[in-house]
Parts: sequence; structure tokens; C-alpha cells
Amino acid sequence: MANSCFKVPYPVNEPVRSYTPNSTEKEAVLETYRKLYGQSKEVPLRIHGKDIKTGDLGTMHPPHDHKHQLGVYHKARPEDVKLAIDSALAARSQWSTMDWSARASIFLKAAALVAGPYRDIINASTMLAQSKTIHQAEIDAACEFADFLRFNAYYLQEIYEQQPDSDDGIWNRLSYRPLEGFVYAVSPFNFTAIAGNLPASAALMGNVVVWKPSDHQVFSAQVVMEIFEEAGVPPGVINMVMGDPEMITNIVLDTPEFAGIHYTGSTAVFKDIWTKIGSKIHQFKSYPRIVGETGGKDFIIAHPSAKPLEVAAAIIRGGFEFQGQKCSAASRVYLPASIAPQIIEHTQKMMAEIQMGSPEDFENFVTAVIHQGAFNRLKDAIESIRKSDEATILAGGNCDDSKGYFVEPTLVQTTNPHFFSMETELFGPLVTVYVYEDKDWKETLELIDRTSEYALTGAVFSQDRYALEEALGALENSAGNFYLNDKCTGAVVGQQPFGGARGSGTNDKAGSVYNLLRWVSPRLIKETFVPAQDFKYPFLG
Ligand code: NAD
Repeated sequence: MANSCFKVPYPVNEPVRSYTPNSTEKEAVLETYRKLYGQSKEVPLRIHGKDIKTGDLGTMHPPHDHKHQLGVYHKARPEDVKLAIDSALAARSQWSTMDWSARASIFLKAAALVAGPYRDIINASTMLAQSKTIHQAEIDAACEFADFLRFNAYYLQEIYEQQPDSDDGIWNRLSYRPLEGFVYAVSPFNFTAIAGNLPASAALMGNVVVWKPSDHQVFSAQVVMEIFEEAGVPPGVINMVMGDPEMITNIVLDTPEFAGIHYTGSTAVFKDIWTKIGSKIHQFKSYPRIVGETGGKDFIIAHPSAKPLEVAAAIIRGGFEFQGQKCSAASRVYLPASIAPQIIEHTQKMMAEIQMGSPEDFENFVTAVIHQGAFNRLKDAIESIRKSDEATILAGGNCDDSKGYFVEPTLVQTTNPHFFSMETELFGPLVTVYVYEDKDWKETLELIDRTSEYALTGAVFSQDRYALEEALGALENSAGNFYLNDKCTGAVVGQQPFGGARGSGTNDKAGSVYNLLRWVSPRLIKETFVPAQDFKYPFLG
């Protein structure tokens, strides 16, 4: 037990490496990439610090080279899920009562491992598993993941330091208990950092976790789990199970000790899980915490005073980086008629310079989309756009899945602001532009607000301060992360806490105190030094 009020090291964002041509860091990560490509990895379930091999196998492939097999992973059977839950519950007593500084220390060590000896492995694994360019892998798997771990340890201390006032003769104390039960973490394919943060943030606050990564991220999820264990996360505290998501979720939700879900993924799945939780509410020992960050239909609006080149660059980076597979990716763009032709021309010129291919070639800005389902969804959408008389393809539009799931960055213009590609999350490199009359600026702000069920990110470009203020007001509830003269992607932990409302999630802001507060259940302790010995108050005479 610590006889001291320790101070967590002040967190600083992990510096992003640039991987310039001929740099040693580039050579090192490429060497690791090639080594991993050439190996065949077997990923077992990890339950109570042990490998569980079920023999029911799934295969892993790089999306940009889908005929190549990276290895296999084991899928959980119902009894494995139950074992993961039992292991978590068995670990709870020791983990939840361990000194908080020891928990913080474990996750700070994990951050140091991510930023140090594991950096090339976690980046190369993310390049292979999710087809990220080195820059996209670096800002996600290395930097954002390390940032989540370091900033959360610091926020834990900030939370614990929040204590109530005490009158004379008493002492009020708040103890931030972990939830009574276990937390279920369900992560998406697109960010290795999110996959790591969902279980780690709950565990940091003293909870035990059953973690289900996406089937399409297992290759890099295994590295995350290895780092947790090397950092000292004890057996049973975080248990990793893969496999049929519905079966796993149903077993979790049939357990009375289910205490909360930390979810990131699509909106439909989250709503389905929420419905199930609601229907089973009588069987849980506590009201489960439900935290979910979900889909988006993120926008850029340019005011007539905007600088065309800046808007074009934001469309390219915000819409096409990581093939538009960020929840924050720009996918609907509103341009004023007076400068739309210039912005479109700049965008087309920049798009002509974009190279697409394997992330192993550092000249590629765009790589492949995650799987056949995503490829088909995007190809079908592009086909519908081609056939429509309400839309025109201004650039891109070609798809080729012969080697990898390649969808060319595609710029579309529509005359219908409610065209399906302005409303539906397609989750790919597809940006649709709607041109409005300059005089309709106000109406266009209202249109943006009511066009989609989501409210995740949005950006406004303008040189006119009044216009920026007007957009801030009119779009107050249209985005949880709102950008003035910047692209709508790239939130940094500790600087832009991330999350959206409406259909985009519970807006608990990943990597912030708001999120960590969801994983504790405070207990107030009042101590009276000299208790009363008579029941009578003075007014009784
Ligand atoms: P997905 O919904 O397909 O999968 C997310 C997770 O849910 C995976 O682990 C998956 O196995 C699991 N799942 C799928 N079906 C399930 C079911 N029936 N029951 C229980 N679990 C189930 O999402 P994805 O393709 O991995 O990720 C892309 C989605 O995630 C997009 O909608 C994107 O906007 C969203 N996302 C949001 C944020 C955010 O912070 N708002 C961040 C990243 C991704």
C-alpha cells in the first residue's frame, strides 16, 4: 500500500515520426513489415494469461494483397466466452484493490513499450492488417495508442483528486470504485489505438474486461494484447476473445455481472446491443454503463470567403486518407457557387497526384479498403451514382479487387442535397459535393443540420469571422468535434477529445476524464470525529 500521494508524469503527445526516404526509421519498419509478411502467425484466444486454441480457425490477409495469408486466428466457442467472463470476475478482487499507482504504472509501461521496442511491430502489423500507410499507422498504432495510455493515467489522478468539501468535525471522502462486475469492450477494425484503449481505459480504473476485437484487426490486436501482458497486466484482467460477435455478445449479456460496454463501431450494431441490454435489464446486478462511439456522415462547408486551395486540401486529407475509413472522414461537402469551380479544379488536380497501392510502397497515399464486403458496398454505390441522373463522377470511380480491395478516391457532384451518398455512411474514399447558391448560406447550414442522423465531425472554412460564428451556432448539435478552417479528421488525445452525439454515439469523449468517469462508481464516505450523544436538536428546547 502506498504511503504517499504520487504524481503521474505529466503527459506529452508522442512525437510523430516522418519516415522520410532513406531514413533509418523507414528501413526499420519496412524490414519488420517484410518479416511479418513472410511469417505465418497463429493467434489464439488469451484468457487468464493463457493461450486457448479452439481449432475453429479464421484466416488473416492484408487487404491490399488478399490472396496472401498472414496466418490464422482461433474463434471462441461458447464455453471459451464463459471462461473469459469467469476469469475476469476471478481477477477482480485483487486487481480492483491494488494500489492505483501500480495500475497506472502498468499502463504507462505499456505506453513506453508501444513508443519504444514495439513501435515497428505495432506499426507494421497495422499496415498489414488494416492496410494503413506508414503515416496512418504511426499516428494511430504508435502515437495515439501511447497518448491514450499516458493521458488516461494522468486523468485518473485528476479524477481521484476531486474530493468533496468537509464541515468542521467531519471528513467527506470520495472513493472511485470500479464497476461491480466486468466490462465488455468491443472494438472496430479501423484503429489499433481504439482497440487498445477500449479495454485499457476500463482496466486502468480498476475494472476487469472481456475484450472482443474485430475479426478484421486480429493481426494487430494480438500485438496490443502482447504489450499489455509484457507491461504487467495480470492474468484475467483483460481477456481477448474473437469469433462470432453475436454469440459472444449474447453470452456476455446473459451474465448478471455484466457491468458495462465500451463499444466503438457502426451505429446499427450499437443500437442492437443497446436494445438487448434494455430487454435484459432485470437480470443485471447493476445498471450497465453503455458507452458507444459509432458512425458519422461528416461534412465540410465552405463559405464564399473561404480560400479554395485550403478547402481542396481538407477534402483530400479529410476525405481520402486511410481510404475514407475513419469515422470522422469528410464525405459530404457543401460549396458556394462562386468558388465551387476553383475548389473542384484544385481537388481534381490533387487527386490526379494521388497514388494508390500497397502500403509497402511509401509513395502511395491511398491503399486498399478493409474487406470484400466494404469493396462491394463501395463498388455498388459507385455503380448507382453512375446510373443516376442526379449525380456525376468528377474524378476516380474505378474499383479493382483482383489483387487487393482497391477503390479509387472518388469525387461526386450531386444536384440533390439528399442524394443517398450525402446521407448514408459508406465508409470509403467517396466524397460527394453539393453546390449551393452563395445567397443560401444560412439555409445551407440548416440543411446540413437536418440531412443526416449522425453528429460526429464537421468543418467550416471561411475568412469571415461572422460567418464562422454563424456556423458555430447553427451547427451546434451537428457535430461533437467541430473544426474551424481545418479538416474534420485527426483528433489528438489531450487536445481534441473525440466523440459525437445523435446517431454517432454517447459522446463520452475517448481519451478524456469524461470517458474514464463512466468506468467508476463513486462511494461517498462521511466520517464524524465526535458523534452526537443526544437525539435532541437545540430547537426542541
Ligand atoms: P462494425 O460495426 O462492423 O464492427 C464493430 C465491432 O462490433 C466489431 O468488433 C464487430 O465484430 C462487432 N459486431 C459486429 N456485429 C455485431 C453484433 N451483431 N453483435 C455484437 N457485436 C457485433 O464496425 P467496423 O466496420 O469494425 O468499424 C467501422 C464503423 O465504426 C463505422 O461505422 C465507423 O464510423 C465506426 N467508428 C466510430 C468511431 C467513433 O469514434 N465514433 C471510431 C471508429 C469507428
